[in-house]
Amino acid sequence: MINTDTATEIAQGGAFLIKGTNPQSISTHEDYTEEQKMLRQSVLDFIDKKIEPLQKTFDSLEGTKIAPQLLEEMAELGFLGVGVPEEYGGFAANFKTQLAFCEVAFSCYAFGLTAGVQTSLGVAPLLLYGNKEQRAQYLPKIVTAEIKSCYCLTEPSAGSDANSGKSKAVLNEAGTHYILNGQKMWITSAGHADLFFVFAKIDDDPNLSCLIVEKSYGGISLGAEEDKMGIKGSSTRMVFFENVPVPIENLLGERNKGFKIAVNVLNTGRIKLATSVTNNAKKAFKLGINYANEREQFGKAISSFGAIQHKIGEMAANIYAMEAIFCRTASHIDEVRDKLVADGLEILDTKFKSIAEFSIECAIAKVHNSEAESFVIDEALQMHGGMGYSSESVISVHYRNARINRIYEGTNEINRMLIVDMLFRKVMKGKLDLMAPLMRITSEMKNDALLLPKTDGSFFADANRSLQHLKKATLLVAGTAAQKLMTQLKEEQEILIHLANCLIQLYAFESALLRTEKHQDKNLEVRQELTTLLMYKTAAKIAQEAQEALYAFTEGEEAEQLLQAVQTLTHLPPYNLKNARRKVAQYFIEENQYKL
Ligand SMILES: Cc1cc2nc3c(=O)[nH]c(=O)nc-3n(C[C@H](O)[C@H](O)[C@H](O)COP(=O)(O)OP(=O)(O)OC[C@H]3O[C@@H](n4cnc5c(N)ncnc54)[C@H](O)[C@@H]3O)c2cc1C
Repeated sequence: MINTDTATEIAQGGAFLIKGTNPQSISTHEDYTEEQKMLRQSVLDFIDKKIEPLQKTFDSLEGTKIAPQLLEEMAELGFLGVGVPEEYGGFAANFKTQLAFCEVAFSCYAFGLTAGVQTSLGVAPLLLYGNKEQRAQYLPKIVTAEIKSCYCLTEPSAGSDANSGKSKAVLNEAGTHYILNGQKMWITSAGHADLFFVFAKIDDDPNLSCLIVEKSYGGISLGAEEDKMGIKGSSTRMVFFENVPVPIENLLGERNKGFKIAVNVLNTGRIKLATSVTNNAKKAFKLGINYANEREQFGKAISSFGAIQHKIGEMAANIYAMEAIFCRTASHIDEVRDKLVADGLEILDTKFKSIAEFSIECAIAKVHNSEAESFVIDEALQMHGGMGYSSESVISVHYRNARINRIYEGTNEINRMLIVDMLFRKVMKGKLDLMAPLMRITSEMKNDALLLPKTDGSFFADANRSLQHLKKATLLVAGTAAQKLMTQLKEEQEILIHLANCLIQLYAFESALLRTEKHQDKNLEVRQELTTLLMYKTAAKIAQEAQEALYAFTEGEEAEQLLQAVQTLTHLPPYNLKNARRKVAQYFIEENQYKL
């Protein structure tokens, strides 16, 4: 049986598959503190005043011209120091507070990317790997936006395979400078950046290093602004480095270890992306529901039709899970960070370790929330009918802007494979024991004892029982795949993706269930229906993904036995999901927005 007794344990990355989580140990959207609410509100006030009126400008290249000035205005209000320690001019907020900020700041049309790079990708390399001198030299000026930064990893021939980049830095004869040559592509904020975190190979090194490169060093030129399908007002350019002299002191972290820097910065970026897209989905939901309440056809508001209510129910369930995922992950990260601080570690070192611990969950959050965002926006656009297809409509801007979120910060395909790869690496390193629970489940399968005893019939007891069953089904398939295919598994991408899909959906459902369980005093009926919708979706998804995975690597009697086990574990009793969606829809139609 899967262990659910975790009341006293510190959360551990990837362990959600085999362990339960105490609902009281996680933080949720409802748990924002007064301080976090005030921060969000002041950012929202800034956005309402300064960005909303320029929404159209940010849907054009014109936005790239005004973004730097607006970034400076944000800096004047102190927002850009959210993750930076006080000694460098910031206010060293915990991770949940950083996400509270980026939920609203990164989701204001194309300008969100400018704010995002300056407070995430364009500062994280220094926060995580900078030495004292480097931090002191640059961080205070990044916080005030006196220095605007960007993150240069991708090259024309090196995208997902980032470590294959050709940019090269050669140590000069005097041993004082690296002479940097190369070309980077798709660089957000490059148009206004003064500081470039550049990943390049030094001399004949096999792996990347990371250099801090100031524009003032000379030899840097830019391509034209990319004409993109969305986020048009965010600067995206090629960057060319021609014999740029970079002082040797500007090597960030260790030589040849730049890929590790890139990966860890992206872990942070992924969970922040998962957070900001949640707010995009909420904005789209509001646009959709406002329109559906106003638009009449056949003599009625279209929001009164079952087909529209079906959409509203599904959209709301997705958003409920999106919020639950990023808040839960943030609280796990903060919990580990607090423990490391208590053990005597420096705060900046703990940040790296606590986020790295939850790299699986960060990747899950990125994939789930970017796809849920696309789903919600697509449905909101559909609710607008022809008006949604007009390029004048705001929902069509969201539609075009959202598409990038499944591509950058690691494509969703790469992230899916990483999720499974990272999980099995933890197992191989002895950090996670999947084998003992797998052996128990295999023995239960042979003894026809897979199902847990029936509960008292209460909502939470039943939902938790189903959650345990879904975890067992996922573990059974993932564990059997690893045992049978061993090293060959990493070549079987289709199977990896099936397994990742099970894990993603499982984490989404569990996060939503924990949230509902923690906040039983608030709109319980609606929350239970939202959770139920997610539970049925998860069971159906795991049934399908697990089945297809098993088809791919088992056969004969073994296949039949495993398929039967998956069917047993993913079976749920009949429930009127149509009514559940209608109940949820009625609630949100009245609210005329996503508000719980
Ligand atoms: C608007 C925008 C802003 C960006 N901002 C930045 C930035 O600020 N800094 C930066 O460094 N980069 C940035 N990027 C680059 C972005 O991170 C890359 O586009 C992304 O990593 C994918 O790389 P690629 O475009 O070369 O696609 P490719 O790697 O060529 O991938 C193409 C397709 O093949 C799939 N694929 C690739 N490899 C595999 C594999 N091993 N197995 C299975 N499928 C695979 C991918 O999933 C994808 O579907 C930005 C990109 C855009 C479009």
